[in-house]
Amino acid sequence: MIATAGHVPAVCLLEEIPLSNWPQPSPINVALRGVCPRCGRGKLFRGLLTVVERCPVCGLDLRAHDAGDGPAVFVILGLGAVMMMLVFWVEFRFEPPWWVHVALWVPFSIAAAVWLLRLLKALLINQQYVHRSTALEE
Ligand SMILES: [Zn+2]
Repeated sequence: MIATAGHVPAVCLLEEIPLSNWPQPSPINVALRGVCPRCGRGKLFRGLLTVVERCPVCGLDLRAHDAGDGPAVFVILGLGAVMMMLVFWVEFRFEPPWWVHVALWVPFSIAAAVWLLRLLKALLINQQYVHRSTALEE
């Protein structure tokens, strides 16, 4: 059964199609748009950070593609370093009252962390799909 516009089958046999027959969206495109690494059209996330079980467009089973803690490590280390440089720069340059730091850095750090987690999760899932490295293949 092939998915057509407006009809998404519960079980799709499109996974049997070889990888080379799919359009191969670029990893950057997959990461920035949060879309399926196979078809480049189905949404990869349900909510903010939850990966869908199956692509709603092509039916790719995404349960085996687990980014694990990889994105969190990069976000904690990378964003933490950048944030601390910005915090010190603002403090020594402008010397604002403490509440300015709270009002500035709490929303910024939450938004940046969620955005970076989505980006890196999608990028890692794309790389797992392209290099066919999943937990279910063992
Ligand atoms: Zn798809």
